[in-house]
Amino acid sequence: MAEINDIYKAFCDSTGISTDSRNCPDEAMFVALKGENFDGNKYVEEVLLKGAKYAITNNPNLAHLKNVFIVEDTLKTLQELAQFHRRQLSFPIISITGTNGKTTTKELINAVLSEKFKTKATKGNFNNHIGVPLTLLSFTKEMAMGIVEMGANHIGEIGLLCAIAEPDYCIITNVGKAHLEGFGSFEGVKKAKGEMYDYAAKNDKLIFINHENSHLQEMATQNKLRFEFGRKTDIEVQLTNAAPFVKINWTDKQLNKEYNTSTNLIGAYNLENINAAIAIGRYFNISPEAINHAISSYQPTNNRSQFINSKNNRIIMDAYNANPSSMAVALDNFNQIQENKKWIILGGMKELGNDSLSEHKKLIKTIDDCEFSKVLLIGDEFSGINGSYNHFSNNNDCINFIKQNPPKEAYILIKGSRSNKLEELLPFL
Ligand code: ATP
Ligand code: MG
Repeated sequence: MAEINDIYKAFCDSTGISTDSRNCPDEAMFVALKGENFDGNKYVEEVLLKGAKYAITNNPNLAHLKNVFIVEDTLKTLQELAQFHRRQLSFPIISITGTNGKTTTKELINAVLSEKFKTKATKGNFNNHIGVPLTLLSFTKEMAMGIVEMGANHIGEIGLLCAIAEPDYCIITNVGKAHLEGFGSFEGVKKAKGEMYDYAAKNDKLIFINHENSHLQEMATQNKLRFEFGRKTDIEVQLTNAAPFVKINWTDKQLNKEYNTSTNLIGAYNLENINAAIAIGRYFNISPEAINHAISSYQPTNNRSQFINSKNNRIIMDAYNANPSSMAVALDNFNQIQENKKWIILGGMKELGNDSLSEHKKLIKTIDDCEFSKVLLIGDEFSGINGSYNHFSNNNDCINFIKQNPPKEAYILIKGSRSNKLEELLPFL
């Protein structure tokens, strides 16, 4: 079996790492991973012929090939290699997890810190047991700081990712109900995300923590090294407007100064994401002017609360994901927007296991308490509990309804789990 030292030497001699047999860059190192529907080990020869310089595989029959490392478990080797590489890097790494707002907060933190430092952050949502190692392996010695998003849907994952990335600073955005199938319960969610605080407490690493979040405070009792932000701390952010774009007023009590910032973000819930980025920026001595510049120029992508002006309507497109906590804040936010004609189009929330029915019933109750002119619900999760609201089993049925009853000059919120693909409705709105 190949030794990690030798594999690391080869990695340093390559142009980078890739797990994608179809797009492995020239002179790169290919790691053959085995998933449910694919086995990268089948493509090793082909990838090397096409220009990869090295390959890591578990197939002993390829031992005769030049530049091939045979290992027992390629995923474990990828993770070990990432950890080995991380230990060669002397700059600090900030890790971020939480139920909602990880990517947005990560992007905002990166925007703020890059005003002063050479930074790199997780690309998109590459936040799992494969994405985190790949992110770390993309970090180079010239950088001054790295920001790593960590996602999890099972107990133990965040602990593993922290052990690989060895972050110097940690932040949990929030804890809410999501992936209940994997976590078992809300307590399970807290335990799973809390693995980041456990890591920080054990290794004397500093956490950034929202002073107002009682769940996080309860989880962080062992964390002595902490920088608090939120109401009644030195860095306080207030919402001044969210119709629909978030405008804030924030104070830095140490500087005894107050600032106003406009953003391209939609949804009052972004306040905590912004607050975290401002606090971390101030902690690392980024000037308030530079922080304001970074936050006001950040543009969200990938259907994460995007504002779209269609021919006939204004749309808040939030089809990137949904769970009970993000659904509740999105509805609350939309409910507060002062408009006459408001439509909501919601897709079912996935991965809730035994809590699915009760959580969807709660959602219906929340809708009952709001004032919307039209409510369209899509997915089997709403079957039998949709009350007087329009219910469709799939996007096509909903599209047919929209074609017959096209909204005009309406304000529309679209939100649902990723697999609902609610963006399919856009052309008809
Ligand atoms: P994922 O688990 O897919 O990685 P994430 O935690 O990275 O998600 P984002 O991609 O930043 O989260 O945001 C996804 C959606 O979550 C947003 O479009 C919004 O609806 C909701 N959201 C973002 N921030 C918050 C927050 N602080 N509180 C509640 N909901 C939020
Ligand atoms: Mg994310």
